Amino acid sequence: MSDLTPEAALEQAADAGIHRLAIPTPFAVGRVNCYLLEDEPLTLVDTGPNSGKALDELQRALAERGHSIDDLELVIVTHQHIDHLGLVEIIVEHSGAAVAALGVAAARLANFNEDAEAEDRFAVELMLRNGIPEEVTAALQSVSRSFRSWGSHVAVTRPLADGEEIGLRDRTLRALHRPGHSPSDTVFWDEERRILIAADHLLAHISSNPLISRPLDGSNERTQALVTYIESMRKTRELPAEFVLGGHGEPIVDHVALIDDRIAKHERRKEKIFKLIDECPRSGYEIAQAIWGNVAVTQAFLTLSEVIGHADLLVNEGRVREVEDRDVVRYEATG
Ligand SMILES: [Zn+2]
Repeated sequence: MSDLTPEAALEQAADAGIHRLAIPTPFAVGRVNCYLLEDEPLTLVDTGPNSGKALDELQRALAERGHSIDDLELVIVTHQHIDHLGLVEIIVEHSGAAVAALGVAAARLANFNEDAEAEDRFAVELMLRNGIPEEVTAALQSVSRSFRSWGSHVAVTRPLADGEEIGLRDRTLRALHRPGHSPSDTVFWDEERRILIAADHLLAHISSNPLISRPLDGSNERTQALVTYIESMRKTRELPAEFVLGGHGEPIVDHVALIDDRIAKHERRKEKIFKLIDECPRSGYEIAQAIWGNVAVTQAFLTLSEVIGHADLLVNEGRVREVEDRDVVRYEATG
């Protein structure tokens, strides 16, 4: 157990030249945490979404520390979600900053619009196959389209390999690929100070939704997002971090306890879903409705991702199988 408080962790980070800039987003999650590293090169980890309000607040937050957007020399992108990378293009136009991100994600980040379109088509197909009605998928697709302008294409000039080090004047950050929440999630480990910048891989107060998506190669397979996410959490659990700086909310001062808690919750949810499947074969949508009621409609993709993620665990354990029933997939118990 650590007796460090989140507030003290932020102070300790600031003493190490790491400053949290909480930038507004139009999304339910609220503000996104970007981190300014006062080092050489002057570095910003994540940017906030592509909006005038986010840009204004980022400029103001940088000015409070005596910097401007033009001064930024390196932007690090933690993953492919638009609340984290929307301002990259504008920042690079102003500053000429280098852009570092996971190399295997670079092609998709470069083709943001086409990629978002392909991801939407993939999501619609996945929802239909899992029994979600067509009108619900159509509504979600138009919501997703309307959010697209908050994103940006990202030209990665510094592609990172898993495990690669970024050397700054005062610190070394090791890029570690931790897929699950998204396929491109990358965390940045300062071994000397035992500080982990984890973005959405680990959040203090909300669980990091392991959203089903296409794999990084852009093929039309789907990821086993939760299976992958649990593997990634187990790796992070081994890091002797003093604290973890997340992409939303407060720092995490006991990541081992948090990860154990998250894994136990997934275990419980998996058993709850197994019970429902064991009663009678059900589609992903039917399972989501049984657990979340109307939220399975309004948050259809999110709740379906949850169901499929846990069903993947059960399929991998041999307790459940997928059965094609006309155009819809149902889960049934093998026993
Ligand atoms: Zn995210």
